[in-house]
Amino acid sequence: MNCVGLKISIAHLYPKLLNLYGDIGNIITLKNRCLWRGIEVDFEEINIGDKINSHDLYFIGGGQDKQQQDVAQELYSNKNELISQRDDGAVFLGICGGYQLFGHYYQPHNKEKLNGISLMDAYTVAGNKRFIGNVTIETEFLDPKTLVGFENHSGLTFLEGETKSLGKICVGNGNNGKDGFEGGRFKNVFGTYLHGSLLPKNPHFADYLIGLALEKHYGEKINLPPLDDKFEFEAHNSVINKSY
Ligand code: GLN
Repeated sequence: MNCVGLKISIAHLYPKLLNLYGDIGNIITLKNRCLWRGIEVDFEEINIGDKINSHDLYFIGGGQDKQQQDVAQELYSNKNELISQRDDGAVFLGICGGYQLFGHYYQPHNKEKLNGISLMDAYTVAGNKRFIGNVTIETEFLDPKTLVGFENHSGLTFLEGETKSLGKICVGNGNNGKDGFEGGRFKNVFGTYLHGSLLPKNPHFADYLIGLALEKHYGEKINLPPLDDKFEFEAHNSVINKSY
Protein backbone atom coordinates (compact mmCIF):
# COMPACT_ATOMS: atom_id res chain seq x y z
CA MET A 1 0.00 0.00 0.00
CA ASN A 2 1.23 3.54 -0.75
CA CYS A 3 1.60 5.27 2.64
CA VAL A 4 2.54 8.72 1.32
CA GLY A 5 0.60 11.38 3.21
CA LEU A 6 -0.41 9.14 6.11
CA LYS A 7 0.46 10.36 9.61
CA ILE A 8 1.11 9.03 13.11
CA SER A 9 1.93 10.83 16.35
CA ILE A 10 4.78 9.64 18.57
CA ALA A 11 5.62 10.77 22.12
CA HIS A 12 9.00 10.19 23.72
CA LEU A 13 8.45 10.04 27.49
CA TYR A 14 11.16 11.59 29.72
CA PRO A 15 14.15 11.31 27.35
CA LYS A 16 16.24 13.61 29.56
CA LEU A 17 16.06 11.02 32.35
CA LEU A 18 15.43 7.60 30.79
CA ASN A 19 17.71 7.15 27.79
CA LEU A 20 20.30 4.56 28.74
CA TYR A 21 22.51 2.69 26.22
CA GLY A 22 21.29 4.72 23.25
CA ASP A 23 17.60 3.93 23.69
CA ILE A 24 17.02 7.11 21.59
CA GLY A 25 17.91 4.86 18.63
CA ASN A 26 14.42 3.41 18.88
CA ILE A 27 12.85 6.83 18.23
CA ILE A 28 15.28 7.48 15.34
CA THR A 29 14.32 4.13 13.80
CA LEU A 30 10.57 4.66 14.16
CA LYS A 31 10.80 8.17 12.70
CA ASN A 32 13.01 7.12 9.75
CA ARG A 33 11.01 4.01 8.85
CA CYS A 34 7.93 6.24 8.67
CA LEU A 35 9.64 9.04 6.73
CA TRP A 36 11.20 6.58 4.23
CA ARG A 37 7.63 5.56 3.36
CA GLY A 38 6.28 9.11 3.20
CA ILE A 39 4.43 8.77 6.52
CA GLU A 40 4.41 12.07 8.42
CA VAL A 41 5.44 11.87 12.10
CA ASP A 42 3.99 14.32 14.59
CA PHE A 43 6.64 14.00 17.33
CA GLU A 44 6.56 15.30 20.90
CA GLU A 45 9.10 15.03 23.75
CA ILE A 46 7.43 14.81 27.17
CA ASN A 47 9.59 15.96 30.08
CA ILE A 48 8.93 16.38 33.80
CA GLY A 49 6.03 18.82 34.27
CA ASP A 50 4.71 18.46 30.70
CA LYS A 51 1.09 17.42 30.05
CA ILE A 52 0.84 14.03 28.34
CA ASN A 53 -1.35 14.48 25.27
CA SER A 54 -3.03 11.79 23.17
CA HIS A 55 -0.64 10.00 20.81
CA ASP A 56 -0.65 6.89 18.63
CA LEU A 57 2.64 5.61 20.04
CA TYR A 58 4.48 6.27 23.32
CA PHE A 59 8.15 5.33 23.90
CA ILE A 60 10.06 5.28 27.21
CA GLY A 61 13.68 4.18 27.65
CA GLY A 62 15.71 2.78 30.49
CA GLY A 63 17.73 4.37 33.26
CA GLN A 64 19.39 3.90 36.62
CA ASP A 65 17.26 3.58 39.77
CA LYS A 66 17.62 7.30 40.62
CA GLN A 67 16.27 8.47 37.24
CA GLN A 68 13.56 5.82 37.44
CA GLN A 69 12.51 7.25 40.81
CA ASP A 70 12.27 10.80 39.35
CA VAL A 71 10.08 9.58 36.48
CA ALA A 72 7.91 7.11 38.45
CA GLN A 73 6.00 9.76 40.45
CA GLU A 74 5.36 11.88 37.34
CA LEU A 75 4.29 8.87 35.28
CA TYR A 76 2.02 7.67 38.10
CA SER A 77 0.26 11.04 38.18
CA ASN A 78 -0.70 10.37 34.52
CA LYS A 79 -1.70 6.74 35.14
CA ASN A 80 -5.42 7.05 34.38
CA GLU A 81 -4.81 8.99 31.15
CA LEU A 82 -2.24 6.43 29.97
CA ILE A 83 -4.50 3.47 30.82
CA SER A 84 -7.28 5.11 28.82
CA GLN A 85 -4.85 5.64 25.91
CA ARG A 86 -3.93 1.94 26.16
CA ASP A 87 -7.60 0.97 26.05
CA ASP A 88 -8.07 3.18 22.97
CA GLY A 89 -5.41 1.10 21.20
CA ALA A 90 -2.36 3.33 21.66
CA VAL A 91 0.98 1.56 21.23
CA PHE A 92 3.53 1.61 24.06
CA LEU A 93 7.16 0.48 23.96
CA GLY A 94 9.12 0.51 27.23
CA ILE A 95 12.75 -0.50 27.62
CA CYS A 96 14.15 -1.88 30.90
CA GLY A 97 13.47 0.81 33.56
CA GLY A 98 10.61 2.13 31.44
CA TYR A 99 9.29 -1.44 31.04
CA GLN A 100 9.45 -1.96 34.80
CA LEU A 101 7.22 1.10 35.31
CA PHE A 102 4.59 -0.37 32.92
CA GLY A 103 3.82 -2.91 35.67
CA HIS A 104 2.23 -2.40 39.10
CA TYR A 105 5.47 -1.56 40.94
CA TYR A 106 9.27 -1.74 41.03
CA GLN A 107 10.76 -2.55 44.45
CA PRO A 108 14.45 -1.47 44.47
CA HIS A 109 16.89 -2.67 47.15
CA ASN A 110 16.48 -0.83 50.50
CA LYS A 111 14.47 1.98 48.90
CA GLU A 112 10.82 2.99 48.69
CA LYS A 113 8.67 0.96 46.29
CA LEU A 114 8.07 2.82 42.99
CA ASN A 115 4.45 2.78 41.79
CA GLY A 116 4.04 1.63 38.20
CA ILE A 117 1.17 2.61 35.91
CA SER A 118 -0.28 -0.92 35.54
CA LEU A 119 -0.42 -0.89 31.74
CA MET A 120 0.32 -4.59 32.08
CA ASP A 121 -0.22 -7.06 34.90
CA ALA A 122 3.37 -7.48 36.12
CA TYR A 123 5.70 -6.45 38.93
CA THR A 124 9.46 -6.10 39.44
CA VAL A 125 11.67 -6.63 42.46
CA ALA A 126 15.40 -5.89 42.69
CA GLY A 127 17.55 -9.00 42.37
CA ASN A 128 20.97 -9.70 43.88
CA LYS A 129 22.68 -10.22 40.53
CA ARG A 130 23.04 -7.89 37.54
CA PHE A 131 22.13 -9.56 34.26
CA ILE A 132 24.45 -8.17 31.57
CA GLY A 133 24.92 -9.49 28.07
CA ASN A 134 23.53 -10.28 24.63
CA VAL A 135 20.03 -11.68 24.39
CA THR A 136 18.23 -13.60 21.66
CA ILE A 137 14.55 -14.40 22.06
CA GLU A 138 12.02 -16.25 19.91
CA THR A 139 8.61 -14.59 19.61
CA GLU A 140 5.30 -16.07 18.46
CA PHE A 141 4.09 -12.92 16.69
CA LEU A 142 6.94 -11.61 14.52
CA ASP A 143 8.38 -12.76 11.20
CA PRO A 144 11.25 -13.53 11.48
CA LYS A 145 10.50 -14.81 15.01
CA THR A 146 13.75 -13.61 16.59
CA LEU A 147 14.53 -10.41 18.50
CA VAL A 148 18.11 -9.56 19.52
CA GLY A 149 19.48 -7.01 21.97
CA PHE A 150 21.56 -6.33 25.08
CA GLU A 151 20.39 -6.57 28.69
CA ASN A 152 21.75 -4.78 31.77
CA HIS A 153 19.40 -4.96 34.76
CA SER A 154 19.16 -6.27 38.28
CA GLY A 155 15.39 -6.04 38.39
CA LEU A 156 13.46 -9.31 38.22
CA THR A 157 10.11 -8.96 36.43
CA PHE A 158 7.25 -11.40 36.92
CA LEU A 159 4.25 -11.44 34.55
CA GLU A 160 0.73 -12.09 35.83
CA GLY A 161 -2.83 -12.48 34.55
CA GLU A 162 -3.26 -12.01 30.78
CA THR A 163 0.18 -10.50 30.24
CA LYS A 164 2.17 -12.52 27.72
CA SER A 165 5.95 -12.46 27.31
CA LEU A 166 7.58 -11.04 24.18
CA GLY A 167 9.17 -14.43 23.69
CA LYS A 168 11.15 -17.42 24.84
CA ILE A 169 14.77 -16.90 25.83
CA CYS A 170 17.30 -18.54 23.47
CA VAL A 171 20.36 -16.71 24.87
CA GLY A 172 20.46 -14.49 27.96
CA ASN A 173 18.47 -14.13 31.19
CA GLY A 174 15.35 -12.14 30.31
CA ASN A 175 12.67 -11.15 32.83
CA ASN A 176 14.03 -12.93 35.88
CA GLY A 177 16.58 -15.55 34.88
CA LYS A 178 14.20 -18.26 36.06
CA ASP A 179 11.07 -18.64 33.91
CA GLY A 180 12.82 -18.65 30.51
CA PHE A 181 10.90 -15.71 29.08
CA GLU A 182 11.71 -12.10 28.18
CA GLY A 183 9.62 -8.96 28.04
CA GLY A 184 5.90 -8.46 28.35
CA ARG A 185 2.96 -7.57 26.12
CA PHE A 186 -0.68 -6.80 26.76
CA LYS A 187 -3.01 -5.21 24.17
CA ASN A 188 -0.64 -2.86 22.27
CA VAL A 189 1.73 -2.43 25.23
CA PHE A 190 5.22 -3.93 24.80
CA GLY A 191 8.01 -3.97 27.37
CA THR A 192 11.45 -5.48 27.11
CA TYR A 193 14.89 -5.54 28.72
CA LEU A 194 16.50 -5.34 25.29
CA HIS A 195 18.69 -2.26 24.96
CA GLY A 196 20.98 -1.95 22.01
CA SER A 197 19.11 0.03 20.93
CA LEU A 198 16.45 -2.51 20.14
CA LEU A 199 14.71 -1.41 16.93
CA PRO A 200 17.64 -0.67 14.54
CA LYS A 201 18.61 -4.38 14.63
CA ASN A 202 14.98 -5.54 14.71
CA PRO A 203 13.32 -3.63 11.82
CA HIS A 204 10.48 -6.15 11.63
CA PHE A 205 9.46 -5.23 15.20
CA ALA A 206 9.72 -1.51 14.38
CA ASP A 207 7.37 -2.03 11.41
CA TYR A 208 5.02 -4.12 13.57
CA LEU A 209 4.74 -1.21 16.02
CA ILE A 210 4.30 1.37 13.20
CA GLY A 211 1.55 -0.81 11.72
CA LEU A 212 -0.28 -0.91 15.06
CA ALA A 213 0.08 2.89 15.44
CA LEU A 214 -1.35 3.43 11.92
CA GLU A 215 -4.25 1.09 12.76
CA LYS A 216 -4.90 3.10 15.95
CA HIS A 217 -4.83 6.38 13.98
CA TYR A 218 -6.95 5.29 10.98
CA GLY A 219 -9.08 2.54 12.50
CA GLU A 220 -8.06 0.00 9.86
CA LYS A 221 -5.12 -2.31 9.15
CA ILE A 222 -2.57 -0.68 6.80
CA ASN A 223 0.06 -2.86 5.13
CA LEU A 224 3.44 -1.16 5.04
CA PRO A 225 5.43 -1.29 1.78
CA PRO A 226 8.70 -3.19 2.43
CA LEU A 227 12.03 -1.35 2.83
CA ASP A 228 15.49 -2.62 1.83
CA ASP A 229 16.55 -4.03 5.23
CA LYS A 230 19.68 -5.79 3.99
CA PHE A 231 22.01 -4.05 6.47
CA GLU A 232 19.53 -4.14 9.34
CA PHE A 233 19.16 -7.91 9.05
CA GLU A 234 22.92 -8.37 8.56
CA ALA A 235 23.25 -6.70 11.99
CA HIS A 236 20.37 -8.79 13.37
CA ASN A 237 21.72 -12.09 12.08
CA SER A 238 25.27 -11.27 13.23
CA VAL A 239 24.21 -11.40 16.90
CA ILE A 240 21.61 -14.19 16.84
CA ASN A 241 22.48 -16.72 19.54
CA LYS A 242 25.74 -14.89 20.29
CA SER A 243 26.25 -14.92 24.05
CA TYR A 244 29.50 -12.90 24.27
N1 GLN B 1 17.33 0.23 37.43
C1 GLN B 1 16.70 -0.90 36.76
C2 GLN B 1 17.45 -2.23 37.00
O1 GLN B 1 18.64 -2.21 37.25
C3 GLN B 1 16.63 -0.65 35.27
C4 GLN B 1 18.00 -0.52 34.62
C5 GLN B 1 17.91 -0.14 33.15
O2 GLN B 1 16.98 0.59 32.74
N2 GLN B 1 18.91 -0.58 32.37
O3 GLN B 1 16.82 -3.29 36.88
